[in-house]
Amino acid sequence: MTNEQTDTDVGIIGGGPAGASMAAYLAKAGVKCVVFESEIFPRPHVGESLVPSSTRVFRDLDFLRVMEDSKFPRKYGAGWTSAAEAPVYDHDWDGLGELDAHVDGPNLRFEERDQPGVNQIYTYHVDRGKFDLLLLQHANQLGAEVYEGVRVSRVDVNGGPPAVKYNIAGRETGTTCKIVVDASGRRTLLGNQLKIRVRDKVFDQFAIHTWFENYDRTTWNRNESQKDFIFIHFLPISNSWIWQIPITDRITSIGVVTQRKNFAKTRESREEFFWESVGSRPDLLEKLRAADQIRPFREEGDYSYAMQQIVGDRWLMVGDAGRFVDPIFSTGVSIALNSSRFAHRDILGALETGNFTRAAYHTYESTIRRGTKNWYDFIQVYYRLNVLFTYFVTDKRYRLDVLKLLQGDVYDADEPEVLAKMRSMVSVVEESPAHPWHKLLNDLTHDAFRPTF
Ligand SMILES: Cc1cc2nc3c(=O)[nH]c(=O)nc-3n(C[C@H](O)[C@H](O)[C@H](O)COP(=O)(O)OP(=O)(O)OC[C@H]3O[C@@H](n4cnc5c(N)ncnc54)[C@H](O)[C@@H]3O)c2cc1C
Repeated sequence: MTNEQTDTDVGIIGGGPAGASMAAYLAKAGVKCVVFESEIFPRPHVGESLVPSSTRVFRDLDFLRVMEDSKFPRKYGAGWTSAAEAPVYDHDWDGLGELDAHVDGPNLRFEERDQPGVNQIYTYHVDRGKFDLLLLQHANQLGAEVYEGVRVSRVDVNGGPPAVKYNIAGRETGTTCKIVVDASGRRTLLGNQLKIRVRDKVFDQFAIHTWFENYDRTTWNRNESQKDFIFIHFLPISNSWIWQIPITDRITSIGVVTQRKNFAKTRESREEFFWESVGSRPDLLEKLRAADQIRPFREEGDYSYAMQQIVGDRWLMVGDAGRFVDPIFSTGVSIALNSSRFAHRDILGALETGNFTRAAYHTYESTIRRGTKNWYDFIQVYYRLNVLFTYFVTDKRYRLDVLKLLQGDVYDADEPEVLAKMRSMVSVVEESPAHPWHKLLNDLTHDAFRPTF
């Protein structure tokens, strides 16, 4: 290990899932690391439904036991509902055969596909206040130093040992480290500072969400095994949907997601907007009106972006600090955890060799870019032509390939075949006005977003 003199080996900005898992990985490997978190945990946070690829990280970090003891609702799969059933099943498609008579529409159970390295058929829905606190405490127990209530103002990254700067009692002070990890989430501390953040030109979604008690979420279950599924309810408004995520037996998180152009301008009208949107699904409205709202509404705005660079000399970005892709498939926490899983290996290598240049983090950079690109392409096709997703899920030849993506297994070297197939189908539908699905195309263009890096 290099014997360069700094206050700590690795400075980590942010103690959410990305920062806490990074700290836990490094501390477990005996690396001296410090987390600076601006909030005092527990604090509320959006992003409550996990995907199963998170389990590998929990297992690596000896954290699965904590997840089990905490009694978070188990998530066995996902279901989708729409106001009127789209004409999914009536169309024939060259290359897709008879639909499998045994599948029961647009829902999936994780147990249908074995996942290497994941030995349970469920993942979890989490109260993020509690989950993030537990993971950060776990990192601390493994040996990471954790400072809450410390907001990092900037990082000096000029090629030499980075200095993490923050104010204590009105005075700027700092900590030097060999490598700095930005895990500041959508605040993207380093991305803003270095001016390398690129707004996503395709996705400009907004969300408004809250928690309800005594909402009868079983209404949507087709059978008992779907208890505690996540449900995505489509609205008859372009690119708009509602999430339904179990938080406890009695509490359910509900969020409306829509495009910027649909979103209300003022706070009051946003609450009205929430209820009007829910009202476009009278079946949902009736159930929610009968329930008790137990938290104020929270909003998340225009959140999709990428970075021109996610690693540099002596710095790395993990989780949302490096990229945000639309959350329709509950991907964010899994990407955050897995980015730390991949990145910490390169950091260990750099500390061992003393080579802290950008090249030292190449494996991480290429792996995480590949994974998020797969998610991104999948999400884009999905928004462009929802019906295609349902069609693939109900075709037994493709069902498991789609499930693999939804389980969060997106980091293989080769692009998933099903994505190429979906993309080519979208192109054909776009070019054929007479095609029965043409009128179902949504207004997000299929490949409008072309990263320039
Ligand atoms: C509408 C919406 C719905 C979503 N739904 C889901 C979902 O169902 N499932 C899912 O997996 N994901 C979902 N996500 C995404 C999920 O919220 C994020 O991907 C996830 O929280 C990323 O973790 P992170 O650790 O990178 O960032 P965060 O969880 O945001 O953590 C970053 C931490 O850094 C701290 N911080 C920020 N700036 C500083 C600073 N200057 N100094 C010190 N500390 C700082 C913050 O206080 C915060 O605690 C959703 C996101 C949105 C917007």
